[in-house]
Amino acid sequence: MDNCIFCKIIAGEIPSNKVYEDDNVYAFRDINPQAPVHVLIVPKKHFANILECDAETAAALTDAIRAVAKQEGVDESGFRVISNCGPDGAQSVNHLHVHLLGGVKLAERMA
Ligand code: AMP
Repeated sequence: MDNCIFCKIIAGEIPSNKVYEDDNVYAFRDINPQAPVHVLIVPKKHFANILECDAETAAALTDAIRAVAKQEGVDESGFRVISNCGPDGAQSVNHLHVHLLGGVKLAERMA
């Protein structure tokens, strides 16, 4: 989608630190990491947020979460996945994405 920063990252028009890619999903390191492992997992197809996501994309995101967790070595230690949605969710990029955070014991409260 025009003027979507994540569409531009997926297209290679904006540089990113790629972690994982398959036919449906692109994953890269967050530019402002909140944990030692902080990866953004993004469907290549543009959806504004998780409410718009179709079942095929949801399955592809789940597969990618599993792959990234293993690749980053946090599948056994544990990790957190978050998808911020809308103003109260503090979503700042309106292209569906999942944050995968790990590599440290995360706070028990999220807000
Ligand atoms: P959210 O607030 O859930 O919409 O998350 C958007 C995330 O995208 C934030 O954690 C930003 O740090 C991250 N971000 C924004 N621009 C870039 C970029 N060019 N490369 C990597 N991460 C980015």
